[in-house]
Amino acid sequence: TVTLVGSFNVDHVWRCEQLPAAGATIAGRYDTGPGGKGFNQAVAAARAGAQVRFLCALGDDAGGALARGLAQAEGIDLRVQLGDEPTGTAGIYVDAMGRNSIVIGAGANGLLASEFIAVQGEAVQTAKVLLVQLESPAETVLASLKLARENGVLTVLNPAPANAHTYAELLDQADLLTPNETEFSALLARHVGERVEPDDVAALDGQRLHALCREVHPKGTVVITLGATGVFVSHADDQHRGDGKAFYRHPAESVTAVDTTGAGDAFNGALVASLAHAPQAAFAEHVRYANRYAALSTERAGAALAMPSQADVLARFGE
Ligand code: ADP
Repeated sequence: TVTLVGSFNVDHVWRCEQLPAAGATIAGRYDTGPGGKGFNQAVAAARAGAQVRFLCALGDDAGGALARGLAQAEGIDLRVQLGDEPTGTAGIYVDAMGRNSIVIGAGANGLLASEFIAVQGEAVQTAKVLLVQLESPAETVLASLKLARENGVLTVLNPAPANAHTYAELLDQADLLTPNETEFSALLARHVGERVEPDDVAALDGQRLHALCREVHPKGTVVITLGATGVFVSHADDQHRGDGKAFYRHPAESVTAVDTTGAGDAFNGALVASLAHAPQAAFAEHVRYANRYAALSTERAGAALAMPSQADVLARFGE
């Protein structure tokens, strides 16, 4: 079983020629659907083959009902903290170049409490893997990680979004850290005092990138997702998780990407599903599966509802 603690949002998306300037009124094509990093990753993990529990906070409103209906359809065991705030929302403008401007209304997500995690403790304690992100209050994320750690559950922290507050104790509680280039750049600036632009991360020499990973997260594994460049893995010196080497790159699969929104969520969900399914396998095997799964997710538009199935991955790439 994989347990996730995280966010659910109702996304409201407007596609327009240009992003609206202050004071401007413009026309756009509207679309709405489920989102939130926590939920996207929960759906990915479920479709990638895991039994999934998802702990989140929802409002008593249409958004909350949407989350419940979708979780049921996906076979996700949903544990809800119901509050007075509305369900989380995201207002997203996307221009013709694919650039976006996003406003997040955290709503209920901002109230997800450590007390609720404690009440649902068994859902965390009995999991094989716990996956968390930073669209929920940091102290709740920390409490979840600690509870999992104390019970021998493998902990994975996806340190997203990049502007979220991180601190050393939070990172310390994660067995695996899974930043993308932007998040890794932010972690370097905050925790190591190094300036590396997101666009320059992938081109760094492997030995150098490994050394930087060791500084960001000395005791655990770092998996940096590098978009169309693939993945970089860096293990702590004393544990290579069956890989037999401290660091390596894994190239991206060649696909026709039409929408990379949620590729990171796809990667994280598939990674934990694979880890829960075969905990003894070499880590590189899990990276290979997550890399394939995430590549396939970019061939369809959308986030949660565009996640592929395990069968899709097999059909496309074989065993
Ligand atoms: P995020 O969505 O957080 O920005 P990335 O862009 O790093 O995350 O993508 C996550 C993973 O998805 C990559 O490591 C890779 O496995 C896969 N991926 C993303 N974009 C592509 C692409 N254009 N072609 C193949 N795989 C991709």
